[in-house]
Amino acid sequence: MQQSARVLIDGPSELVFDYMIPTDMPVVTGCRVRIPLRNRDSTGTVLDIGPPPQTNFTLRPISSLIDPEPLITANLMKLGKWIANYYVAPLEQVMRALLPESVRQDTHSEKTKKVVELTTMPTSEELEKIAKRAPKQHIIIKLLEANAGKMSLKDLGGGSISAAVKSLEKKGHIKLTEEAVRRDPDEDQEFLESKPLKLNPEQAVALEQTIHPVCSENGIPKPILLHGVTGSGKTEVYLQAVQHALDQGKSALVLVPEISLTPQTVQRFKSRFATQQDQVAVLHSHLSQGERFDEWHRIRNGEARIVIGARSAVFAPLKELGIIIVDEEHENTYKQETSPRYHGRDIAVLRAHFEKAVIVLGSATPSLESFHNTQSGKYELIRLTHRADSQAMPIMRVLDMRLEAQKQKGRIAILSDRLRVSMEKKLEQGEQIILFLNRRGFARSLQCPPCGHVCECQHCAIPLTYHRTDERLVCHMCGYQSLPPKKCPSCGDDAIRFQGFGTQKVEEVIQKVFPKARMARIDADTMRRKNALRDTLNKFKAHKIDIIIGTQMIAKGLHFPNVTLVGILNADLGLHVPDFRAGERTFQLLTQVAGRAGRGELEGEVIVQTFTPHSPSIQFARHHDFDGYAEQELQFRNQFLYPPFSHCALLGTRSTHERRAEFTLENLHKRLQKDLPAQLELGEPMPSPLTRAHGQFRYQLMLKSTSARALHQHVQRVLAATPPPDDVTIIFDMDALGFF
Ligand code: ADP
Ligand code: ZN
Repeated sequence: MQQSARVLIDGPSELVFDYMIPTDMPVVTGCRVRIPLRNRDSTGTVLDIGPPPQTNFTLRPISSLIDPEPLITANLMKLGKWIANYYVAPLEQVMRALLPESVRQDTHSEKTKKVVELTTMPTSEELEKIAKRAPKQHIIIKLLEANAGKMSLKDLGGGSISAAVKSLEKKGHIKLTEEAVRRDPDEDQEFLESKPLKLNPEQAVALEQTIHPVCSENGIPKPILLHGVTGSGKTEVYLQAVQHALDQGKSALVLVPEISLTPQTVQRFKSRFATQQDQVAVLHSHLSQGERFDEWHRIRNGEARIVIGARSAVFAPLKELGIIIVDEEHENTYKQETSPRYHGRDIAVLRAHFEKAVIVLGSATPSLESFHNTQSGKYELIRLTHRADSQAMPIMRVLDMRLEAQKQKGRIAILSDRLRVSMEKKLEQGEQIILFLNRRGFARSLQCPPCGHVCECQHCAIPLTYHRTDERLVCHMCGYQSLPPKKCPSCGDDAIRFQGFGTQKVEEVIQKVFPKARMARIDADTMRRKNALRDTLNKFKAHKIDIIIGTQMIAKGLHFPNVTLVGILNADLGLHVPDFRAGERTFQLLTQVAGRAGRGELEGEVIVQTFTPHSPSIQFARHHDFDGYAEQELQFRNQFLYPPFSHCALLGTRSTHERRAEFTLENLHKRLQKDLPAQLELGEPMPSPLTRAHGQFRYQLMLKSTSARALHQHVQRVLAATPPPDDVTIIFDMDALGFF
């Protein structure tokens, strides 16, 4: 019997239609096809194939196949459907994440592309009018809004929307520009071949495990968590494991948190496989459409057998995938911040499962999710306990800033005497220094400088957030509210209030104290220019800079032999944020940062300034005790039923109209309450800690469940039955990592 195909039409409208498959056309799932749509030709992706549905009208046939082979392999299609379902995202959006734009189009991409930018957001009145009179224009605004205000014309729907774009341009809401095709930034670099090192016994065991992995009954390798202290030689294990996969005629996928922040890891791969240079494809966000197109096809036709890339490279169309490496698996950057909000590491584990490939998750500070999976037997745990160069771990000193606050009476202490003296010494000796200020987010908690006390929610054990507008302390897990105390509930001092300083302020102060030192600041503000980070790091490496002051941007896998002092200026900034993962992040940051010191011949020193010196994440990090840390943290998570013992998700609304954002969320809350599954806990709707951003008001509520399925199914059902008003955007973040 003749079969029909469900086709997802390209474009913003999320249309799915059935078409007959002509008898002689080899259509399979994942094929790109041309189809008739109303009275014009369109393109789309085949989602499913089956017997034709019972309808009153006859189905139209598919006109032609765009590619002889499906662009999306069966396994990737399975992955895509899983993502759409689990993260409650439209399948069209998932397909867009799966296939680069230039590949989805059936023509080669040009040297430039047209880009549409949202310049002025319409007011809610205007938006309502637009929604009524010009639905296409409304869709465009909503899409732009959902994609950080900028999308290519093609992704918005190409020619079919040009009239709508023109009239929005006339109204002054958007701007149409051309973006030039970028060259490969690595083009000017040369890579000398590096030879494999002789592995130490621990590394040899780790490599052996990746070559002969423990498998489940159906022959699927168990995921491996490679927990190796900083400098233990994980990268060398990856390199040799990848070489082994290549020797077996297989391909390899290497995921890194962010290409621009891990230049050294990428360089090491490029050097090791220098003689097979054309087999290595590096996927990064700076690739032009054309370059991306070429790389994608090089990977698909098997020319490139090693792919290195960030999060989205998890969808690289590698054939015969032998191994996936997820480096720094605990990093937050693996989570996509726009829909589909997938977690690159989790998707990598799933892809490895579908492809029966080996997967290695590596980190010096594994996420508690992954570590818990080794305890429950889902993953294998392998450990590298020594530094490969047999250097001692650096000494970590914790400085009690409460004493410093008393000494410096009233003034905000940025630099303790101890840290200043240490810096002086290192500079005299011609050694280098890194200073960290992990300023995360904007949420303010109340901390008392004289005693270090932090106001917490009794129900959720996370810091309460101070909302200045209505003078309240709010819990962002459960919605509990209270008035901010006039005096510290613990010591009675009235100095309790938020204090803060940024990297810029630190730079000023350090400059005053050390006027001769050459310094550079690394943060989101100073690193906007292309290659700015690479250039600064190269200068630092060449010792043209003495002191780097930076945010956690530089806490990743960097290697500077001459850095002997690392200072954490205020460990509390990351610790007392309204997030149950705050402790975990602080432990990770301190451990990773400590790993930056003393990576050469010289001994390293780490100085941590804090108002809460006894907090477990600081103390365990100080003793390089991951197991001790994990044990107490897992106990806390279990007690309050936080991940990994449950799944947490965030449901939010955004609108230029405050009441509508609030109403919409309250309405959703009401509907979620109805037939609420037993395992599901539903929080109260409340304003987000960042109540207003980009002219939009934001409301949110938390969901928590021991069953992921119960959670996303319930939300999916309610969202499908509750279309939001035109000027409200709904955001659902499954397994949310941040709670703002
Ligand atoms: P990690 O990735 O675990 O942080 P690296 O791979 O960066 O550790 O290794 C730290 C240093 O030790 C690097 O300079 C690396 O070249 C070196 N190294 C790794 N393995 C060996 C080995 N088997 N023998 C000698 N040196 C090694
Ligand atoms: Zn609470």
